[in-house]
Amino acid sequence: MFHTQALTLFPEFFHSPMSCSIPSRALAAGLVSFEAIQIRDFATDKHHKVDDTPYGGGPGMLMKPEPVVAAIREARIRQPETHVVMLTPSGTTFNQAKALEYIEKPGITLLCGRYEGFDERIVDYVDEELSLGDYVLSGGEPAAVSVLDALIRLLPGVLGSSESAVLDSFTEAGILDWPHYTRPEEFEGKRVPDVLLSGNHAAIEQWRRKQSALRSRKRKQHSED
Ligand code: SAM
Repeated sequence: MFHTQALTLFPEFFHSPMSCSIPSRALAAGLVSFEAIQIRDFATDKHHKVDDTPYGGGPGMLMKPEPVVAAIREARIRQPETHVVMLTPSGTTFNQAKALEYIEKPGITLLCGRYEGFDERIVDYVDEELSLGDYVLSGGEPAAVSVLDALIRLLPGVLGSSESAVLDSFTEAGILDWPHYTRPEEFEGKRVPDVLLSGNHAAIEQWRRKQSALRSRKRKQHSED
């Protein structure tokens, strides 16, 4: 079983994503475990304070090191071999190769920030800093949900053969999926490409590979522009 944990101020954020569709099936089948750990439970003062103002001034609040580090320690006690990942826009960017790397580990713990982020010293207590992309979310939870979803669908036995991840985009580095069509054959004047209706499997395969290559090249050009 692949063990996942989230360290968060909002455990309830994970209720719906983990109780729908593929993650919920994977949990029910015992292929993955998930636990949300409330960081606030590790604050020792009477107001359970988890944030404080930044030294040097400036707007916003920062997550304090004491409760966050205590929560990381608890996560490592619960799952001694877990890989602890801090979610932050300053981290390396998540991608399919990273997802494939993570599922080879015994488990993963996703540390979710809030406010203006973490006291920098917390970095010394995690294994890696990870970003979802070059934009800023209000908290690490939506990033954690995306990472969890990407990992869970790759775990052996989670997807049925009719929905295999093998043909997904990025399974081969940088290669995107081909365009897909379903009924009707014509929608508002837009027809399904003839080749897909031809029944000629070799021609269909060739068309799909070509479309995949075209899309991938187009995407590469866009990201270089
Ligand atoms: N002041 C921070 C900055 O500019 O880098 C942004 C803090 S953000 C409002 C609060 C939290 O959301 C972060 O600590 C992090 O956990 C999460 N977060 C925001 N954007 C993210 C991203 N692109 N990838 C991963 N986590 C992100």
